[in-house]
Amino acid sequence: MSTIEQFNQYVMPSYGRYDLVLEKGEGRQAVDENGKEYIDFGSGIGTNSLGYCNEDWVKAVCDQAHRIQHTSNYYYTKVQADFAKALCETAGYTDMFFGNSGAEANECAIKIARKYSFDKYGKGRHNIITLVNSFHGRTLCTLSATGQEVFHNYFFPFVEGFINVEANNIDDLRAKLDDTVCAVMFEYIQGEGGVMALQQEFVDEIFRLCAEKDVLTIADEVQTGVGRTGKFLAGDNFGKKADLTTLAKGLAGGVPIGVCLSGEKCAKVLTPGTHGSTFGGNPISCAGGLAVLNTVNKPGFLDEVTAKGEYIRKKLLSSPEVASVSGIGMMIGAELKTKKAGDVAKAALDKGLLILTAKTKVRLLPPLTITYEEIDKGMEILLGVLNS
Ligand SMILES: *Cc1c(COP(=O)(O)O)cnc(C)c1O
Repeated sequence: MSTIEQFNQYVMPSYGRYDLVLEKGEGRQAVDENGKEYIDFGSGIGTNSLGYCNEDWVKAVCDQAHRIQHTSNYYYTKVQADFAKALCETAGYTDMFFGNSGAEANECAIKIARKYSFDKYGKGRHNIITLVNSFHGRTLCTLSATGQEVFHNYFFPFVEGFINVEANNIDDLRAKLDDTVCAVMFEYIQGEGGVMALQQEFVDEIFRLCAEKDVLTIADEVQTGVGRTGKFLAGDNFGKKADLTTLAKGLAGGVPIGVCLSGEKCAKVLTPGTHGSTFGGNPISCAGGLAVLNTVNKPGFLDEVTAKGEYIRKKLLSSPEVASVSGIGMMIGAELKTKKAGDVAKAALDKGLLILTAKTKVRLLPPLTITYEEIDKGMEILLGVLNS
């Protein structure tokens, strides 16, 4: 039986998958079971931020596995303390909570927002504004938060208390941000929603209104964070620091992690017993995260991300098939004129390039460590497919 047949016999069919069995990876190249190589412009959805099996990262993760792999949260480990310090200092926050995924990070932020408001104002102020076309995760609560009707099926009843506002519609925001609202949650660049950056004026208005009404800002930076946009946080591109910021995907270089960062305002909201996660703060994940932070914090690294992003954008725009390019840094969307993004992704895969799609767009989230040579190689394939 082939790997694919065996997998499909035992694993629930909740994903549409390509017929591709990846066996190993090296740098920015993945290798399938037949030895065919693929340039990776998707990073496992922005997760392998340092590419495949980066030497420092492998060493950090393996050393930690040899030392101690898990302890439960009844005890402390040094690697957790070191990672928490490095992350808070890098991101400019004072406190954090450890989870294992983007959805969990967002669940934590939602719980903090509701308890912050309950502690201070009592009942009736539990609503959270999220944006149309947002994506916040697959758990029932984060699915409820997600502002896309296509996700609101089958699993009724959904979690109450989420109100959707149209992205970049200031009037809609003003009308709905009433005294039942405890938080506004948003992605600076909607990832799954089509690589759509929010407008500066809209972001300004969110922060202005929230400050005025003591409503919390929650930035879901699960996809945009950790250097993806050429700044450590995408919020830095907008000159903003949300009360709560969630990170996951690229944070630990490909091992599971999710964190909720907080400033002093919300630092003491979660008291003993109010939240938890067995695997949260797993030492191996923390070791992987430290390796990522060490790389991202190297002088000039983030400027390189910006420069490489610009380089890719320019190449994309040289194609007559590309109508427009969106996103910031190395979070890139390309709207096409005649071709379907899914068909382009399939054709690129056949030619040895892995890319993503988001709605109608081709989406690129290359490893942050990609070289210009690798970009050229990948773009040659992509432009070949687009222009054929
Ligand atoms: C991927 C993603 C999530 C969900 O992360 P999981 O790790 O799959 O739970 C949440 N928010 C955004 C913006 C994402 O891109």
